[in-house]
Amino acid sequence: MTQAETSTDFIRSIVADDNRSGKFGGRVVTRFPPEPNGYLHIGHAKSICLNFGLAAEHGGVCNLRFDDTNPTKEEVEYVDSIMEDVRWLGWDWGENLFYASDYFGQLYEYAIKLIEKGKAYVCDLTADEIRESRGTLTEPGKESPYRNRSIEENLDLFRRMRKGEFEEGAHTLRAKIHMASPNMNLRDPVLYRILKESHHRTGDEWPIYPMYDFAHGQSDSIEGVTHSICTLEFEVHRPLYDWFLNELDIYHSQQIEFARLNITHTVLSKRRLIELVNGGYVNGWDDPRLPTISGLRRRGYTPEAIREFCDRIGVARRDNTVDMALLEHTLREDLNKRAARVMGVLDPLKVVIENYPEGQTEEITSVNNPEDMSMGERRIPFSRTVYIEKDDFREVPPPKFYRLSPGREVRLKDAYYITCTDVVKDEATGEIIELRCTYDPETHGGTSSDGRKVRGTSHWVSAEHAVEAEVRIYDHLFSKEDPHDVPDGGDFKDNLNPESLVVLKSCKLEQSLANAKPGERFQFLRTGYFCVDPDSTPDAPVFNRTVALRDTWARMDQIRK
Ligand code: ATP
Ligand code: MG
Repeated sequence: MTQAETSTDFIRSIVADDNRSGKFGGRVVTRFPPEPNGYLHIGHAKSICLNFGLAAEHGGVCNLRFDDTNPTKEEVEYVDSIMEDVRWLGWDWGENLFYASDYFGQLYEYAIKLIEKGKAYVCDLTADEIRESRGTLTEPGKESPYRNRSIEENLDLFRRMRKGEFEEGAHTLRAKIHMASPNMNLRDPVLYRILKESHHRTGDEWPIYPMYDFAHGQSDSIEGVTHSICTLEFEVHRPLYDWFLNELDIYHSQQIEFARLNITHTVLSKRRLIELVNGGYVNGWDDPRLPTISGLRRRGYTPEAIREFCDRIGVARRDNTVDMALLEHTLREDLNKRAARVMGVLDPLKVVIENYPEGQTEEITSVNNPEDMSMGERRIPFSRTVYIEKDDFREVPPPKFYRLSPGREVRLKDAYYITCTDVVKDEATGEIIELRCTYDPETHGGTSSDGRKVRGTSHWVSAEHAVEAEVRIYDHLFSKEDPHDVPDGGDFKDNLNPESLVVLKSCKLEQSLANAKPGERFQFLRTGYFCVDPDSTPDAPVFNRTVALRDTWARMDQIRK
């Protein structure tokens, strides 16, 4: 059985049925059709994996088509970023790169055809007047006084619109359908508006631009798309798309709607993401707190983890919200396999081992990934002064605290047992600034020859050899699961989490990290998965915490079982 036959979601069933019945002659042509008016986010990844995945499963093709009908909001920067992100996710459109703007000539001819059939007219109402005359869900709209212009007059005016003879807003071209239709989209929608804007591809060639609704279905038709997959909000547009295709008598793609992805603690809407980026609430489109593909990449996500996540959430017709914990769980599973273990101390406390010879350095051997011995071992320098996490010491240990405290013996991972003998405090503030300890030379490698056990193990870094780094710790961008849960008059930005980014300036990392390159990923023992940020330089290394180790999803899963 092929993969396509074993899979279960409703879209895959439709495609399989169509292949059996020969509806499209066994062809499968899908497309991913972004508007280049922002960066892609993980919701788009769901659509990308679905469209490219379906094509791949059937030996078909998936087009990348930029739906670039609105020159006021579109930029080349967005086109470039979208291509980069689709490729990074691991998909390839090959030769099949298209732009709706390539069809402006054809779409213009389609508009002429509708006018000639008496199915479209030039309207002089302003945008506000059109909106006011549309009616409501309970009241029919009012017909435009220009609705019954002659075909000749419509042709003349539309051709002159195309020549650029009129100012913006003077005219629109509208479909002549039904002002009392219960479907608002069929109440004589606008097909073309006058816009004296340069387009990123067609320059100043066109003073009129087709509306998205007039371009989208016909673009699918022109490309011979078999299954035109879109999100649920387009279901009510389908009758309009069908009307165009029927009136124009052209090839008909099958539109199928699915539920868009929502994730807790974040927003997946380009409009809101633009607001966050342009308002300076985050540091650009690739801010690691954003759910953009470029943000996730910078944060340390792997394309494999994102694809696996898209597989797991599946495709359904009902809107739902996926727990961010599932995305992070999927990420941890992937990083667990590929990330080497290293030691990094985020909040350092100095430990002087008084009976260790001054000036001596020895090398400790440590495995890179206990789950994958093929990743080998490395040597870590050990010396008289090391750092441990402040949190790994308590002057007065609470119950069940098994790490270091005065008089207690613990293990330094893979190195030695140490015992705390004294606590040095800042005289003015009382803050603990240093611990004095002794070590037992008989516990080399972190095991004792006499079978003596210790309960606590701490990670550590040799002070003399430490790489000093900035580490950026991220939390949810929004404190609430649903960022839109705000009192009346509030705004989703009110729910921004003030602690979504915490910058730690003087973390101490093991020496092997000195040469880590941007994008490289590691597990810092006990503190999480980290990757090197693009801002990083050899003199001033910067790491992002991709995700902490504690897996709330796995815990919930255990409870569920
Ligand atoms: P936004 O609402 O974020 O502005 P959009 O739908 O306007 O998104 P497009 O560039 O038109 O953005 O999207 C390209 C494709 O991605 C469309 O087919 C759209 O249905 C799909 N898509 C967008 N957001 C999501 C999402 N959250 N989940 C699944 N698919 C999505
Ligand atoms: Mg859209």
